[in-house]
Amino acid sequence: MHNPAQNREMARDAADLEFTDPLTGLGNQRRFHDKVDRLIRERADDPAPFAIGLLDLDGFKPINDLFGRSAGDFILQQVALRLNAAMDGNSFVARVGADEFAFLYPMIFSEEAVSQKARMLIEILSAPYDIGERTARLSASVGCSLFYSGDETTSHLVNKAETALYHAKRSGRGGVVVYTREMEEAAKRVTRIEQALRRAVSAGEVEPHFQPIVDLKSGTTIGFETLARWTDRDLGFVSPATFIPIAEERGIIAPLSQLVLRKATEAARTWPEHLFLSFNLSPSQLVDQNTGLQVLSILNRTGFDPRRLEIEITETGLMTDPASAEKIVDDLRRVGIRVSLDDFGTGQSSLGRLREFNFDKLKIDRAFVSSILEDKPSEHIIRAILAMCEGLGMDVVAEGIEEQAQADRLVQFGCAGGQGFLFGKPKNAEATLGYLRDSLRGAQRVRSA
Ligand code: C2E
Ligand code: MG
Ligand code: MG
Repeated sequence: MHNPAQNREMARDAADLEFTDPLTGLGNQRRFHDKVDRLIRERADDPAPFAIGLLDLDGFKPINDLFGRSAGDFILQQVALRLNAAMDGNSFVARVGADEFAFLYPMIFSEEAVSQKARMLIEILSAPYDIGERTARLSASVGCSLFYSGDETTSHLVNKAETALYHAKRSGRGGVVVYTREMEEAAKRVTRIEQALRRAVSAGEVEPHFQPIVDLKSGTTIGFETLARWTDRDLGFVSPATFIPIAEERGIIAPLSQLVLRKATEAARTWPEHLFLSFNLSPSQLVDQNTGLQVLSILNRTGFDPRRLEIEITETGLMTDPASAEKIVDDLRRVGIRVSLDDFGTGQSSLGRLREFNFDKLKIDRAFVSSILEDKPSEHIIRAILAMCEGLGMDVVAEGIEEQAQADRLVQFGCAGGQGFLFGKPKNAEATLGYLRDSLRGAQRVRSA
């Protein structure tokens, strides 16, 4: 039997445990909410605002996979130590998710001040972590919100910080965003698009368009890139630059992609056999091991020759989980599908990856092509990419060619393939068939002349 004092102590320990994160010893989500609740009550009659922040580690999962779970735990403990050491007497940090931390800043009164604090924390976390012989690096994104009025609750405040964090994550690594009211509007718009897109995908209303890819020297079409197009009944035309990222984030990309690939391969089946079809895969699809199988089963069903298909992936797609991406790429290449690296030069380009992955083709990003005539650095970069591709035995396509002079310059540098409005805008299946008939007739005229 325990005496009353022991009982009290045990009760206190149990309560502590409920409020503590066992891995790092920091407070947990409950403690954080409790602290914010209390501060809101204290500030009820006081006009002074205060700030909270949510910090999420960027790319923690690959670190866990690469170095192992215990190294992952060790890094989380180091992160906790660094964050805790960065708190002053008033502020407070808790661990509120696997790789998510929360801060409370009672004495911060402005958006500038809290974003400055957040940037400092990111800086502190960016110093390397020693794991035995190896070192790891981390970055983090932070979303912040301020408490202004007495009718706001803790969950309001946390929701606002979550919205800000979502915006920070979307704009890349290492960002800090403070919540504003416009974000709420933007979030509502995203939700509207998401719902309309779900409906459109199940009703089969997203269509493939096709943009010609040409042999620059002769000007003949060698293939087409598939680009998804969607016009909603209520929202009107929505650009893929808007709906593709939403589809990725909200888990609609797989069914959307299957729909577009099915329609595209059905259309391309009747094209002359020497023409290839290229198709974009999103980064999130390269993390999903079902992707390969889904692509193959569509080709099976539509009877499209896999050797006529090319898959375009980006460097971002390879970064999240290189091992998973490699497996998917291997599966696709085994049946003769070619793989090209899209938008080369703008993402997190790594030459090492070009060696590890066997790409069949590289697509030079429009950013370089559009400035090739005016900008010496772009010219040098393009020439270097072309030399590299030749050495590695990769085909090249320059994207976004709009003027003849750009095409001429690219030919002069030895670039074989091109794509852009100069040769044709993306068109629907029917118009593409018309385009092919016309160019075939043109070729016959040339031959018979
Ligand atoms: P991307 O794969 O790099 O596709 C090329 C984009 O450049 C297309 O934009 C195309 O219309 C545009 N473009 C081509 N030539 C020119 C030119 O001469 N000038 C200019 N200014 N633009 C040109 P689009 O169709 O808006 O697609 C944007 C992005 O959305 C694509 O970039 C691709 O990443 C993504 N996307 C489109 N369709 C799909 C899809 O079915 N699945 C996936 N996962 N992503 C898609
Ligand atoms: Mg592409
Ligand atoms: Mg591209």
